[in-house]
Amino acid sequence: MSKIELNAISKSFGAVEALAATTLTIASGQFTVLLGPSGCGKSTTLRLLAGLDLPTSGQIFIDGRDVTAASPAQRGIAMVFQNYALFPHLTVADNILFGLQVRGTPAAECKTRLADTAELLGLTALLARKPSQLSGGQQQRVALGRALVSQAKICLMDEPLSNLDAKLRQEMRSELRSLQQKLKLTLVYVTHDQSEAMSMGDQVVLLEGGRVVQSADPRTLYAHPATTFAARFIGTPPMNLLRTRDGCIAGTAIPAAQFAGTQILGIRPEDVQLDSAGIPALVDSLEYLGADQVVRCRVGEETVSIRLAGGAQVAVGARIGLKFPASAIRIFDPESLRAVA
Ligand code: ATP
Repeated sequence: MSKIELNAISKSFGAVEALAATTLTIASGQFTVLLGPSGCGKSTTLRLLAGLDLPTSGQIFIDGRDVTAASPAQRGIAMVFQNYALFPHLTVADNILFGLQVRGTPAAECKTRLADTAELLGLTALLARKPSQLSGGQQQRVALGRALVSQAKICLMDEPLSNLDAKLRQEMRSELRSLQQKLKLTLVYVTHDQSEAMSMGDQVVLLEGGRVVQSADPRTLYAHPATTFAARFIGTPPMNLLRTRDGCIAGTAIPAAQFAGTQILGIRPEDVQLDSAGIPALVDSLEYLGADQVVRCRVGEETVSIRLAGGAQVAVGARIGLKFPASAIRIFDPESLRAVA
């Protein structure tokens, strides 16, 4: 078991509040992603978990033990950073073993762990090479190996795939996910890439301005965003948000479904349907993606994105009708920007 709890954790750097009274539970053996835009407090949270920084207030518990003031070494946590931080003059084997050797682990133990880790990561044939003789993906695996060889049950990763090209990143995502499941690691992973978060995480913690906006599994986050920020941050294209005034979509006399008053109405692009008798819309632009296409159209003062099958025949400038199925509509309060139950 390696459950992590943050209890009202705050962190300020002078006048900058990087993290504001954050309370969060990270389940044991789960893949938890800290997601959010630049500066939202992801790395700060990770550094506090690792013990590289101390919180301004609040406590951190690992398996019920208060580790708030514990040193990194006392926490039993492994870390992988964005820039790998491999030693260029050491071989792959020595890079992987560096931490164990510093801690004086017996040679026989080092040998067994190295063999196991290299086998797990497909690095056995590369152990004698130097980092400069490896591809980006292989270097990433060495950095991973260095964390895994410590056999820590908690592993923290800060944007570990961001230096890789798109195809390799895709491959490493599923490798990392299966490795985490195989080893039952408690993995805390920082990224600003929502598709990375959604494809790997059991739990996604969405942060904005040093606060947790929502912490949920990817499906819940996608289907029931807690705020308009969550609705727009998750999904490409993001959820459509339409302002309604006096029960109509802004700038039209079109009743906004069954909802009266002034609200923000949210609907995912793939949930919008074509219906010639529906809400009148003018096609502004088309983005053809092969299997599907994203059609952007004007409805009153608003722009609505629709995801249609690649084969659907739609032309720029066409007048079409849209239907918003009631079950797909989410409502947000225009003041608080929070979802209305
Ligand atoms: P990114 O994705 O760009 O790395 P992040 O979400 O990881 O962003 P943090 O690095 O946690 O963001 O930073 C959160 C806030 O705290 C930012 O406003 C940042 O400028 C500030 N901050 C972080 N570290 C320090 C520091 N050592 N001194 C002063 N301000 C800091």
